[in-house]
Amino acid sequence: MQPFTFYNPVELVAGPGTFEQLGEKVAKLGCQAMLVTGRNAMRKAGYLDRALQMLTDAGVQCVLFDKAIPNPTDELADEGGRLARETNCNVVIGLGGGSAMDTAKAIAVAATHSQPIAEFLVSGPYGQPRIPSAATLPIVCVTTTAGTSSQLTPFAVATVTATRQKNAIAGRNIYPRVAICDPTLTMSVPPRITAACGIDVLCHSIETFINTMTQPLAEAFAQRAISLVAEYLPRAVADGQDAEARQMMSLADIFAGYALSNCGATVLHALEHPISALYPHVPHGEGLAAMLIAYGRMMPSRAPAKLARLAELLGEDVSGLSDEQAAGKAAAGLQALLEQVNLRLRLRDLGVEHESLPRIADDALDYMQRGIAKTPGKLTRDDLIALLEASY
Ligand code: NAD
Repeated sequence: MQPFTFYNPVELVAGPGTFEQLGEKVAKLGCQAMLVTGRNAMRKAGYLDRALQMLTDAGVQCVLFDKAIPNPTDELADEGGRLARETNCNVVIGLGGGSAMDTAKAIAVAATHSQPIAEFLVSGPYGQPRIPSAATLPIVCVTTTAGTSSQLTPFAVATVTATRQKNAIAGRNIYPRVAICDPTLTMSVPPRITAACGIDVLCHSIETFINTMTQPLAEAFAQRAISLVAEYLPRAVADGQDAEARQMMSLADIFAGYALSNCGATVLHALEHPISALYPHVPHGEGLAAMLIAYGRMMPSRAPAKLARLAELLGEDVSGLSDEQAAGKAAAGLQALLEQVNLRLRLRDLGVEHESLPRIADDALDYMQRGIAKTPGKLTRDDLIALLEASY
């Protein structure tokens, strides 16, 4: 066994009804909160009003920033950071999916650092991306999707508008202090978004399991998450009111979060970020879904034992097969799952233009290089273009 470390300092509050603890958890961290969310979904579901009421009851003043958008931008975080500073906020709450939570995390940095948030996302004349300091405001995340695990990770993903690069602010100071994972909040997520978010959980799990930097705890969490997704995602998509399926997907999101926060993602995320940076209308999970089968076909020769285990976790019959033979069944398992959740997509279905494939590969090799480097077997530009072509 290689020596390893495992770190995750987030206070996890999980299970049905835990949303009700929001006020008391926030009140321990600050008295003036910025609540970050999107324009519609949280209001429509009634979660925004309930959050505001709980904060008032706990004696917390609240500034609402309801401008979070899918695939958030650096400009939005800078704007929110200015407002948080002007209104003396001392704690930031993210309420929503990954986009709202990441916007909240980025605002907690922007409010307390003089540099534009872009400098924390990509390298520039100042050198490598900056790392948020301990001045970062405390963050509380309430996740309303089972998808990104942002509530448990030291990452905040955003696109730099000027350069069209989508990367993560990364550092221990953006771990949320508290993560509330109440699966009842996910019951209002429509089927297509449920599917895309679930595929994000799956990709985090696969990419941390099949990762040159993986370690025993991450592998254990990842494998459990994969089997939960295989069993419960089709049910959550078919019937959003299936409480058991929603709870198990929330658990899968938690397991994947512990794995992701300790070894990060690999080639799929390294390619998807440039895709949704260039095509911001592409939901993150759908971009991943479009490449998953080609990934399943590319990886067996690079990590046969891991792919064999993946096939088994996805429910493929691998009894009596060698690792090489079983690994060959992983792509079929992935395809079957994508079909069950109605997300068998190709990049062209998402509006990605064929001529942009070389740029996507080049961007992945540039600012997403760390994810490329952690993929087993060396990946060349030609390998990336072949994966994109096979997904097109
Ligand atoms: P999202 O936050 O963009 O939400 C998708 C849509 O679902 C939005 O319209 C939102 O309003 C709606 N929605 C959310 N919760 C709902 C609910 N309970 N009921 C009804 N509608 C609801 O989607 P996402 O997949 O959760 O987040 C994607 C973003 O997270 C991407 O930018 C991605 O790159 C990023 N991400 C971050 C991390 C991390 O560690 N920080 C990890 C993976 C992905």
